[in-house]
Parts: sequence; structure tokens; C-alpha cells
Amino acid sequence: MEGRITVVGAGVVGLSCAVRLAESGAEVNVLARDLPLETTSAAAGALWLAAIAARPGDTGRWARETLTEMRRLAGAEPETEGAGAGVRIRPGTLLFRAEAARHPAWDDDLADVIRPDAVTRPAPGFGSGVRLTVPLVDMSRYLPYLTSRLRAAGGTLTRLALPALPSRGIVVNCAGVAARALAADQEVRAVRSQVAVLSNPGIDEWYWYDAEPDELLCVLPHDRYVVVGCTQDDGDWSVLPDGTDARRLVGQARRLVPALEGAEVLGHRVGLKPFRPAVRLDAEPRPTAEDPDHVRIHCYGHGGSGVTLAWGCAGDVVRTVHELTAQPTLPI
Ligand SMILES: Cc1cc2nc3c(=O)[nH]c(=O)nc-3n(C[C@H](O)[C@H](O)[C@H](O)COP(=O)(O)OP(=O)(O)OC[C@H]3O[C@@H](n4cnc5c(N)ncnc54)[C@H](O)[C@@H]3O)c2cc1C
Repeated sequence: MEGRITVVGAGVVGLSCAVRLAESGAEVNVLARDLPLETTSAAAGALWLAAIAARPGDTGRWARETLTEMRRLAGAEPETEGAGAGVRIRPGTLLFRAEAARHPAWDDDLADVIRPDAVTRPAPGFGSGVRLTVPLVDMSRYLPYLTSRLRAAGGTLTRLALPALPSRGIVVNCAGVAARALAADQEVRAVRSQVAVLSNPGIDEWYWYDAEPDELLCVLPHDRYVVVGCTQDDGDWSVLPDGTDARRLVGQARRLVPALEGAEVLGHRVGLKPFRPAVRLDAEPRPTAEDPDHVRIHCYGHGGSGVTLAWGCAGDVVRTVHELTAQPTLPI
């Protein structure tokens, strides 16, 4: 692929799109108000979890494509990109309050790639669960890894707070929750999500209890720390950590995993999950006086599943650019 493409946003979605585009041969410039480790994506836990992604539409396919790439990264030799990418394949338990484990709705769809095993009384306060082995991503490593992969493919990353989306060329809009203003999309809403970061006393299994919309409990162990969370405050745009939330999150994590009792609290993170009834991934031709061939490709609204869906969405963005540039009226 030849030509110049502007990607707006340097979270997990923007970087994944930029990497795929740059590796396809495009000249890619990422513009972002917040650099990767300052984004919502940096606050994520982050687990690849089909339970939160396998909804109608393309999400199951995007999750599946992301799983393939995550497994590739985790399977790389430790001294090469596997260690640097921060992706590990880890076992853990999806928890349920009820005695009999609910059959996960996504089980049939993804039975060829993940095989859950039912367990009884998996943790204090939970009647049943299913054990899965899935990618667990340390975002403090993964986002710098994506950035260096972008640079290696010839792409650039520039800090720039844009007042509006650029009006020339092909623009890929990965602005997360800011798409509400930049794309004038009232369907995008912020769900404030706070987590605590604890030292890791030696835990290597994750736990996840997801009773959406407002209750989510997770313990996600990485090599150097454990992420415990998280709040789900719909419509709250504050990115300041809250002390009461912090104490509650740490307390409930310690009740769930008693080994965390003596773990040091290292810090707190808040991100605004970009919720939308469905992910928006489409091309919008926007002829302007400066550029009659100007096109926006929107890719935002991943809610609590952006890490799980990013590579699949990036693949669709590359295919969309290919289709657009195959038309003789749209040279890039
Ligand atoms: C606590 C927490 C836990 C999570 N856990 C998981 C998990 O376990 N698994 C999972 O799959 N997902 C998880 N998520 C969800 C996931 O993090 C999000 O879906 C994902 O981060 C969205 O990525 P994004 O790139 O679309 O947006 P963001 O990361 O928000 O990035 C948006 C980018 O756009 C830029 N931008 C915005 N406005 C402008 C402007 N005007 N000019 C220039 N640039 C601009 C920003 O600066 C930023 O660089 C979690 C989220 C949180 C907060």
C-alpha cells in the first residue's frame, strides 16, 4: 500500500491501526493529544476476554483475530518480542455468584479457540465459575511495544491536541471517548473506570466477575504488579482517582484473593471507557474545498473491550483503505 494516512489517537486502537497500516506499506502519521501511556488504554487491566466482546455483529470475529495476534506475540522467544510486548497467556477464572456455572453465551462461537472448564466454589462468595486460558496484557509494556513497532515500520507519533479532525487525505479516527466531540457522535459516552495497582506477592492466575453494567471485579496479575478493579461509573468524565473507590477496590480484591492482604498499594489509575451501542467502524467520504477526496475512517466506541478487539478492527481498517485506494478517484 502506498500513500499517506493520518491516524488520530495513540491508544491501543489507534496504535494497532497505525502499525497494521504502516506494515502494509502506507506512510502513517499518528497525531494524539495524549501519548500512549497517558491514555485510557494505559489504565486497562488488560484481559482478552470474549465474554465481554462476543456480541452481535463483527465483535466475535475481531476478538478472534486479536487472539491470533496476541498468541503470536506471547509465543515469541522471550528474549525477542514476546517479553517486550508484555503479552502472557494465563489461566484464570470467570466467576459467577450462582451455584451452577452459567454456560457462557460465547462458548459455542469460540469453542475451537478457547475451552472453558466448569469449576465449583472457585473463590469466597462465588458459587461457580469457568476456567479459561487467555492473553493477559501488561499495558505498561504493550503500548511502548506497539509504538516501537510503528516506528520500525516507518510511522511517526506526534503529540497534538486537534480542535477538529484533519480535513485532508485519509484520516483514521481512533479518538476513543473524544469521538463524541470530534465526530459529533452523541452515542459515545464515558464510563469512568478506576483500578488500583498492587505489588504482586506471587499470584499468577486472574479472576474476573462481570455483572454489567455497574459491577465489575477483576484481579489481573502481571510479572511486576497486580491490577485490581474496577469501577463502572456511567456518564462520569472525571479522570481523578477517588479515595473511597480505591479503598473499596483494594478491600474486595483482598477478600477475593487473600494472598493480596500484605501487598503494597503502588498506585491508582482511571480511564474513560468509550462506550457506544456498537463499535463504529466505517468510511465516511467528506469532500472539502482543500481535498475533494478527503475520507474519514472511524474506529471508536470499543467500551470495555478495546484491547480484546484492536487487532481485528485494525485489519478491517487496512481492508477499508485498500478498497478506497483501489478507486482511481481516490489517490493517496
Ligand atoms: C480500568 C480499565 C480496564 C480495562 N480493562 C480491559 C480489559 O481487561 N480488556 C479489554 O479488552 N479492554 C479493557 N478496557 C477497555 C479498553 O482500555 C478501551 O476499550 C480502550 O483503551 C479504548 O482504546 P482507544 O484507543 O479507542 O481509546 P484511548 O485509549 O482513549 O485513546 C484515544 C486517543 O485519542 C486521542 N485524542 C482524543 N482527542 C484528541 C484530540 N482532540 N486530538 C488529538 N488526539 C486526541 C487521545 O489523546 C488518545 O491518544 C479497560 C479500560 C479501563 C479504563
